[in-house]
Order: sequence, then C-alpha cells, then structure tokens
Amino acid sequence: MAQPLVSWERAKNVMPGGVSSPVRAFGAVGGDPVIIASGRGSRVFDESGGEFIDLLGSWGPLILGHAHPKVVEAVKKAAEKGTSFGAPTDGEVRLAEMITGALPSVEMVRFVSSGTEATMSALRLARAATGRTKVVKFAGGYHGHVDSLLVSAGSGVATLGLPDSPGVTDATSKDTIVAGYNSIDSVKEAFSSFPDQIAAVIVEPIAANMGVVPPVSGFLEGLRQICDEDRSILIFDEVVTGFRVGYSGAQGMFGISPDLTVMGKVIGGGLPIGAYGGRRELMEMVAPAGPVYQAGTLSGNPLSVAAGLAALEQLGNGDPYGTLDSLGRLLSDGLQAEAKNAGVPLTVQRVGSMMTAFFTDMEVFDLEGAKTSDTDGFARFFHQLLDGGVYWPPSQFEAAFVCLAHDDDDIARVIETASKAFERIG
Ligand SMILES: *Cc1c(COP(=O)(O)O)cnc(C)c1O
Repeated sequence: MAQPLVSWERAKNVMPGGVSSPVRAFGAVGGDPVIIASGRGSRVFDESGGEFIDLLGSWGPLILGHAHPKVVEAVKKAAEKGTSFGAPTDGEVRLAEMITGALPSVEMVRFVSSGTEATMSALRLARAATGRTKVVKFAGGYHGHVDSLLVSAGSGVATLGLPDSPGVTDATSKDTIVAGYNSIDSVKEAFSSFPDQIAAVIVEPIAANMGVVPPVSGFLEGLRQICDEDRSILIFDEVVTGFRVGYSGAQGMFGISPDLTVMGKVIGGGLPIGAYGGRRELMEMVAPAGPVYQAGTLSGNPLSVAAGLAALEQLGNGDPYGTLDSLGRLLSDGLQAEAKNAGVPLTVQRVGSMMTAFFTDMEVFDLEGAKTSDTDGFARFFHQLLDGGVYWPPSQFEAAFVCLAHDDDDIARVIETASKAFERIG
C-alpha cells in the first residue's frame, strides 16, 4: 500500500493534536486518525487507498453525501465568477428566501461563517433585546466554542456555571445557568432563582452533542411557555437539526416556534456557513438595521451560498426525508437486533437520519443517562467497524448520520460489520 502523503507525526508537529478541530484526533477511542484523501457519495477514501462507508458525514453537513454533482457544479460555477466580494450578491438573498420560506418562525436571517459565530451573535441579540445578561443552557448541550456556552455542570439541578475550559473567565461563565436536558423543573428553578434576569434559553431541540437525545413530550412546549411568561428569548440551536430532520427542522417536526433560530451545517452544503434568524422586529435590531453590531468579511460567501442553495434545492424536491428516515430505521433496527443477539447492552436512539448507539441498556434522556454508556465498549466497536471499512463517528457522545447517497446495500454492510463487532465485544 502507498504511504500517506503526509504522516500523522508531521501533522502533530505543526498543528495542536494534529488537527483543526479536537474530535478529529480520535482522543475518545484511541489510535491514530485516518487521514482522508477524498470522498464520493457514501464513501470516504484514505491516502493509502482504503475505502470506508461514511457515517460521519463531516459531523452533519453532508446530507447529500460527498461531492454531490449538483453541489460541485454550483461551487465550480460560483468560483469562476469570483470567490468573495464583500458586497451584496444575488445568491445570499435567494438562500435567505429559501430559509425563511422553510422556517415560519424565521422572517429574516443573517449569514455568518460558522455555527459558533451564529450562536454567539444570537446571544448578543437576545441580551440586547431583553436588557438582561443571564442565559440558560443545558448540560450536554453544545453550541460551538462560544466562551459563555463552554459550560456544562451536573444535570438535574440548575447551578451557576463553572467554565469547562481554561481561558474562559469566571466573569463570563457566571452569567450561564446550566439546567438538565428534558427537565422542565430545573428550568423553572433557574427562572425562580433569577427572576427578570434571564435573557435567553438556548437549546438543541433534539440534542445531538451528548449523543442523540430527543426531547420528551412537553419539554419544548414547557420552554416556550416559561420564556413567554418571563419575556425571555427562546433560541433553538438547529445547527444540526435544521434541514436534517425535515425541511422545516425540529421546530417544524414538533410544532414549536422559537424566537431565534441558529443554523449551520446542512445550509452550507458542506462549505463553511452559519446563520441566525427569527422574528422581524428582533432581527431588525441587528446592524445596520439596528444597533446590535455583528459583521463578517466572508459572511454570505458566494461559494458557501451556492453550495447551500444547491443542497436545499435537492432537499425541497420529492421525499428525501422519507428516504432518510427509512435508511435510518433500517440501520438502527439492524444494530439493535444484532447487539441483542450478541448480548451487548445497546440503546440506539434515532430521529430520522441521525442516531447514536449508546452502549447502555437504558433509554437516555439527559447527560447523566448518556454517561452510563460503556465508552470502552464503544471504542472497541468503533475500531472493529473502522477495520471493517465503516467510518463511524469516533465518540460515544456524537451522532452518526445516514445520507441520501447511502443505499440498502451500504446499510446491510454496516450491520454485518457491526454484528461481527458485537460478537467480539459480547
Ligand atoms: C456543530 C454545532 C455548532 C457549532 O457549529 P460550528 O460550525 O462547528 O461552529 C453549534 N451548535 C450545534 C448544535 C452543533 O452541532
């Protein structure tokens, strides 16, 4: 086999941990990461010619699979016309219209370059709109590496946040209150502890960053009601779920209207993007329409917008979400059955095309539940799959994604490989 063009040692010499984002380094499962050379459809290929069925999907954006011809064509065309102008373009208006058309709660949208930027900006707007400082987030909820959101205390009880990372000051994190996912009581407690001080509640309407944890019935409704009563801003972080669980995101699926919505991933068709949007009177507070400053040299980048438009066009035709749901069900049912046969405790939690196979025998409702998973068992599972040509996300607490490029044969091969893995683990 050919040697990779660049070795992992060289990567680690010049980049912290050898990567541009921590989860890529296989820290949670051990071993050296695969250095990717290319991707096509449902597959990725490494530099030595190894081929993998990809269930990472670049951590969410690639709902059409790798190098989808329509997306590639759109990006090529856009690149030939110039890659950035720092001035308004047609494409960004059309993408904004597509997004506002798909999400009834979003009347106006501002494009940024990442999900992190979008959540950071949405918080600024919420604080400006309410004149308050505190924010409620949930244990196990991830909203990018925004200072004030890099906080996650024990679940269940609302507590004042302590920072997760050095470099985040106590002054920043003290305005973050951590509540338990799926626990309306912990949110009520936060609001009664800090009346008229909470600017916003930010929530993943379907949690995806402690593994996939759907909201229990009444949870999102409860958040909506509490925010209405206290005149706080409800922010749905739909960076993962937007255009992933349905064309109108999780808010369409559950019929709940947030005040602000944060997006990213799928809306960029695999290129860098983020966006936040919501009701007109809130969004018109954003500069230059209003006083809340927020800007970006490459925001609304023509290549990202072109890729996003091409992707959303595909998702707006036919029944892609029905197809994704069938593929997702096939995979989750198969994994669940094979684990049972092998006597491996496993709980597969899935919404449409996103799922997590928790190595625990209990249903997971929050971070505490997720932590009952056998992470060593998961690490062995992950490496067995990788050896068998299946690229599963390298962490127990992440979502695996099926995409429209997967077919029944791909799924059957994943299940077969997983079956062998379960037998070895069990
Ligand atoms: C990925 C993610 C983000 C951050 O987006 P980036 O583009 O990585 O900055 C925010 N929120 C959620 C729910 C995410 O999954």
